[in-house]
Amino acid sequence: MKSVGLTGGIGSGKSTIARLFEEHGVHWVDADDVAREVVEPGTSALKAIAEHFGHQILQDDGALDRAALRAVVFQDDHERRWLEKLLHPIIRDELIKQLQPEDYDLPYTLLVSPLLLETDQHTLVDRVVVVDIPIEEQIARATLRDNNTEEQVRRIIKAQMPRDQRLKKADHVIDNSVSLDDARATVSALHTQLVDELQRTK
Ligand code: ADP
Repeated sequence: MKSVGLTGGIGSGKSTIARLFEEHGVHWVDADDVAREVVEPGTSALKAIAEHFGHQILQDDGALDRAALRAVVFQDDHERRWLEKLLHPIIRDELIKQLQPEDYDLPYTLLVSPLLLETDQHTLVDRVVVVDIPIEEQIARATLRDNNTEEQVRRIIKAQMPRDQRLKKADHVIDNSVSLDDARATVSALHTQLVDELQRTK
């Protein structure tokens, strides 16, 4: 089974585009969801985190207190590296597992990740698709969706990979500055192309 990575900056339309691929039966995995799943109550990762950082890292209901964890690792590189060393292989294994569904007829699945190119997640995929919109449109959509200020969104964009760099790493680019119907047509054509390309290389 081949996998295709779908990435783009905040508010570029990754989730929206992923749902358009889903209309063609494409199975997709959201890397952010998986990163949350692996530290749910009852997981070995959460147990290790609680043992390492103490139980004050947990909420009353036993779930991970993300804000508390963020505060600790933000201040301490050593702790951040400890956490990454614990979680990265677990997330990677879970992504690999979820990208290989049973009883699946298409030649590829989709890995949707804002950090596809910034982490080693790109090594899990055979093609990179970048969802692209101009920065001003990105700011407009992200502020509208998340109730963020323009200032906050600009700061997040600055912390992400620059647009031109991301585009250079793309095998395919989806221009999502268009209407949803036009984006649907782009996805439809790209899906046909990917099925063809990835079937032939099977
Ligand atoms: P991401 O997952 O990359 O952060 P989303 O898919 O959540 O982005 O899209 C960001 C916002 O922009 C959402 O509110 C979404 O409904 C809107 N949006 C996405 N694509 C389009 C489009 N082609 N036209 C208009 N609005 C769009």
